[in-house]
Amino acid sequence: MNPSVNYYNSKKYCPSCREYVRFLQSMDESFCVACGSKVRLFSTADRQAFLDGLKADKETRKNKRVS
Ligand SMILES: [Zn+2]
Repeated sequence: MNPSVNYYNSKKYCPSCREYVRFLQSMDESFCVACGSKVRLFSTADRQAFLDGLKADKETRKNKRVS
């Protein structure tokens, strides 16, 4: 079987490096392999864009009238 690794699943955002990095997974947190800082799934900007996208999607659906 060919293990297909998704780019976005294999990297997380490190606020110290200010980029998406490879990370070490511990029990419930992940750490940057380069500097050891805690990493998160999205950068703040990306997270906001993601949430805005969800909201916009909802608004669009709400405003769409079925005629
Ligand atoms: Zn880092």
